[in-house]
This record gives sequence, structure tokens and C-alpha cells, in this order.
Amino acid sequence: CGIVGVLGSHEAAPILVEALKRLEYRGYDSAGIATVNDGALGRRRAVGKLVNLSDLLVHEPLAGKSGIGHTRWATHGAPSVNNAHPHRAGPVAVVHNGIVENYRELRAELAEHGVDFVTDTDTETVALMTERYMSEGQSPIDAAFNTIDRLKGAFALAFLFDGQEDLIVAARKGSPLAIGHGDGEMFVGSDAIALAPLTDRITYLEEGDRAVLTRTSLEIRTEIGELANREIRQIQIDQ
Ligand code: GLU
Repeated sequence: CGIVGVLGSHEAAPILVEALKRLEYRGYDSAGIATVNDGALGRRRAVGKLVNLSDLLVHEPLAGKSGIGHTRWATHGAPSVNNAHPHRAGPVAVVHNGIVENYRELRAELAEHGVDFVTDTDTETVALMTERYMSEGQSPIDAAFNTIDRLKGAFALAFLFDGQEDLIVAARKGSPLAIGHGDGEMFVGSDAIALAPLTDRITYLEEGDRAVLTRTSLEIRTEIGELANREIRQIQIDQ
């Protein structure tokens, strides 16, 4: 029930877990993170409290300064490691809050292309569709945007890509999402509270917005692809 992301200058894993802790109040049944390190996507997931994820990371550390994280409140598929986010398909990892209402249609379409499913979630279709578009030659950003165009329902999403240490794609429809501006760092979170220790400069995505984040830039487009101008607000949150 929470999303975080970081394109940072320090190790991402502890930052992601800390930010997820600040979203614990929303409730969740499992958690996970993914990072890109030396160009390679990796992920760790655990059922139950965030301490289980932290313990796992002690035994199986995950390096990298770019990453996404998620606390899950299962809607489709039981709480399990396998159904926990991030969901990965080839070169892409995805975290998602909300429900992809047309996931059955998307599954059927992907199945026609011979795609195999490994989870019971609605979210997996998002990762698989993005992978499919990328395999057809689309760039990570185009593949993510075209996938987002296909989704019905409520979602906040963040995408991380193999080989891309300076890129997160994020989108919001029906679930809030905030972008945090750092100094040569960029963050994303379900709310500004998650990002409070990292930055107080926040851009709130509006309904239907999609965002392309790098460490030094933020480009936001509306649902119909037009460039959007969203202000940076200086916010105050008691830590
Ligand atoms: N529908 C997704 C799932 O069940 C996301 C749930 C959430 O918002 O955490 O995996």
C-alpha cells in the first residue's frame, strides 16, 4: 500500500526501507525492493513486517544507488513472497498500488503471445506488457507509457529498468504520488511523509500524470501526452 523510489547518491536499499517504514501506517502484508547495480536489476521481497525484509537484506544485501520499493496490501493473489512487489519481467521491475481492473484482458492478450505468468497478481500484467513492448524495440519510457495507456482502474506505479541507473518512470491515476527533489537526487513516494527525511521540495502528480525522473530532471506529461507544468512546493512535515 506504499510506493517509494530513489535515484540517489548513496546506497538505495536502506533509504528505501526507511521510506517504506514511514508508510507503514497505511497497512501492508508484504514488502520488497529492487535496485539497479552495475546495470543489473536485482530484488528482495519478504512477507510480513518490514523487519523481515531488513533481515533478508542483512543476509542477502542489495547494492545500487537507484531503486524502487513497495509495501503490499494484497487485492489479487494471496500474500506471499512470489506475489510481493516489485514484479519483474525481463528488463523491467514494477511496483503498483491499486487495482488493474482489466488485468484479465491483458493476461489473455499476453497469453496469445505465449507469455508465461508466475504470480496471481493483477500487477504482473504491467511488467509483462512493458517487457513485451520493449522486446518489440520500444524504449523503456515509451514501453512504460504505452503500457500505462492500456490500464484501467486505479493505480500508482513506478518502473525501474535493467541497464538504466538514472531512470524511474512513475504514474498516478486514482492513487496519490509525490516526487521529491533532492540535490542531484530525485525521489518518488506515495506521500510527502515518506520522503520527509530526504527532501522538503515536493511536486505532487495530478490525476493521470506520468513522470520521467532522472537525478537532475523531472518531466511530467498528462494522460494525453502533453507536457505538464507542476509546481515544486516547499512543504513542512514534522519528522
Ligand atoms: N493489486 C496489487 C496486488 O494485489 C497491489 C495492491 C496494493 O495496492 O498494495 O498485488
